[in-house]
Amino acid sequence: MSTRLNINDKLPLTCSRKGTCCHGNLVMLHPWELATLAREKNVNPRVFRDLYCEFGGIRLRFNGVVGWKGKQACSQYIGNFGCSVHLGRPLACRLFPLGRQIQGEEVHYMYQGEKFPCMEGCPEVSELPYLTVGEYMNDQKTEKFEKAQDEYLNFMQNLADIAFELLLETGLAESGDKETLPLWRKMGNELPEVLADRIGYEWMDILMIPEIYAEIDDPASFARKHTDLLQSKVQEKFGALQTNLEFHKASVFIMGVALHLARGLGVNPEILVEHWIDTAKNLGAAE
Ligand code: SF4
Ligand code: SF4
Repeated sequence: MSTRLNINDKLPLTCSRKGTCCHGNLVMLHPWELATLAREKNVNPRVFRDLYCEFGGIRLRFNGVVGWKGKQACSQYIGNFGCSVHLGRPLACRLFPLGRQIQGEEVHYMYQGEKFPCMEGCPEVSELPYLTVGEYMNDQKTEKFEKAQDEYLNFMQNLADIAFELLLETGLAESGDKETLPLWRKMGNELPEVLADRIGYEWMDILMIPEIYAEIDDPASFARKHTDLLQSKVQEKFGALQTNLEFHKASVFIMGVALHLARGLGVNPEILVEHWIDTAKNLGAAE
């Protein structure tokens, strides 16, 4: 259940800076956000990923000091100070207590539940100035981070398209294959640590810590370079495949990478994979 918002809705969006929401929360990341956090922390993305993230880099680790309601703080939270990477904080943190949902071409903002989320831990916000959703977005400088999210949603779809091509344009589906779609579904329902293991270190590094840091100020350019890197890796690994078994394995593998990234983008992989399976069936695949 969520409450959908209009850009002019006025809400108690002035933060009381108690750090409540930096405890026991889930903050997902995509590759550009990981690189941006690493720059803010003044370490390289691999170091940031290995020290502060989970599942290959798609989630910030919450292993800090226990605070609000006995929950551990984010790895970036410093007691009596706040966020140590404030200027590089990811979109989820910029938006909180709001969220961003994308349905087709439409984007809208919302918050979880019917009660305004800050009220539970920080009821004093009702005494602070109210802001419109639009004013809040401006204050939080979300524009570049929303652009980056859109770029990586495209990137995710491009990855899935490779899995579709390996299934539908190689003769695999036509051969009567019924093994590929059930494995797509299995991965959509797997725990993130299991899917991360399936992907392995080499591909996880290409997915989450690509070496293109000069482009970081422009998320579109960063994502484009990242796409080029990934395409050349796909070409190197899958360009010479010949048998249906090889196409099947490659399709499953790339779909796994797309679903892992989906989770980092805050998309539910269980729902997404069902949509992709339906699409593949409409195009001639079977299970
Ligand atoms: S719960 Fe709301 S008011 Fe409290 S620290 Fe988080 S954003 Fe600020
Ligand atoms: S990155 Fe910063 S704002 Fe986000 S949860 Fe961690 S400490 Fe809080």
